[in-house]
Amino acid sequence: EPPVLRVKNLEVTYYTDSGRAKALDDVSFSLSAGEKMGMVGESGSGKSTMALAMMRMIKPPGRVEGGSVFIDDVDLMALDPKAMRQARLNKIAYIPQGAMNSLNPVMRIGSQMVDAIKSHAPSESRTAIQDRCMHALKSVDLDSSVFGMYAHELSGGMKQRVCIAIGVLLEPKVIIADEPTSALDVVTQRQVMETIDRVQDEINAAVILIGHDMGLMAQFVDKVGVMYAGRLVEVSTVRDMFTDPKHPYSQALISSLPNLDNKGVFQGIPGLAPSLLRLPSGCAFHPRCTKVMDTCPKVRPEVEYLPDGRMVICHLYDEETEH
Ligand code: SF4
Ligand code: MG
Repeated sequence: EPPVLRVKNLEVTYYTDSGRAKALDDVSFSLSAGEKMGMVGESGSGKSTMALAMMRMIKPPGRVEGGSVFIDDVDLMALDPKAMRQARLNKIAYIPQGAMNSLNPVMRIGSQMVDAIKSHAPSESRTAIQDRCMHALKSVDLDSSVFGMYAHELSGGMKQRVCIAIGVLLEPKVIIADEPTSALDVVTQRQVMETIDRVQDEINAAVILIGHDMGLMAQFVDKVGVMYAGRLVEVSTVRDMFTDPKHPYSQALISSLPNLDNKGVFQGIPGLAPSLLRLPSGCAFHPRCTKVMDTCPKVRPEVEYLPDGRMVICHLYDEETEH
């Protein structure tokens, strides 16, 4: 089965007064229908930029410099603005970080849902719209009475589920949720993840979950992408990532996860995340890498696909012939 989502060579640059920052550098990956991918990495590594670029919502001084985002055989990057507006929510839905705090406080939840449908599928009948809303509320396990409520009448978890319901109103092929569980307590985090799981099963969408809680994510995704300084440096299945991470940064992330030895405390990894304005030469991770070699500061590593299909960007895996 061909992948439903193919992101190829996506590039974003921010043109600031202090210089150019490549916020997304040659990012490529693909996802099949029903597949879930977690995107992890420190803040500023490009996770949200990637989501915004895929939605064509990068604002100046940022600019998408190149690349394509295919959903089936349609390249979102090639659509005219009107077609792109319709593709949002129809083909690809984005639940931004903090979405639940941007629900309109003076509008009933139902009106916000109806508005979302009208602006993306203007030709639907009143009853069809109503049915969609009720169905979406049900699929995120909310009572139909939520339709008539205001945001302040809902708990944080319920608001987040409303945002997911809005995201799936038009049954998109791809859903991107940016930090969907941040600011929620542990129990509610699980519920929100389970809700995403359920709606995804229902519409067989490909889902990208952006987050930094590798542990929580591992229970819900099929594969994990690791971002560092604007590059997607490894893509592996959850099992491979946890048992045998390939990129030294992935290895550091995995070994810093809370476990019995360190009494459940997240260790962080040593060194500071680099400024995108002054990236280290060659491999941007080299100042923090415990496996750094002579070639690392000199030569930019390129994408390697390992025999088992895993993707990694690190000189440790260069083809022998290229040395
Ligand atoms: Fe470390 Fe070199 Fe690999 Fe970069 S390319 S992660 S510095 S070993
Ligand atoms: Mg972010």
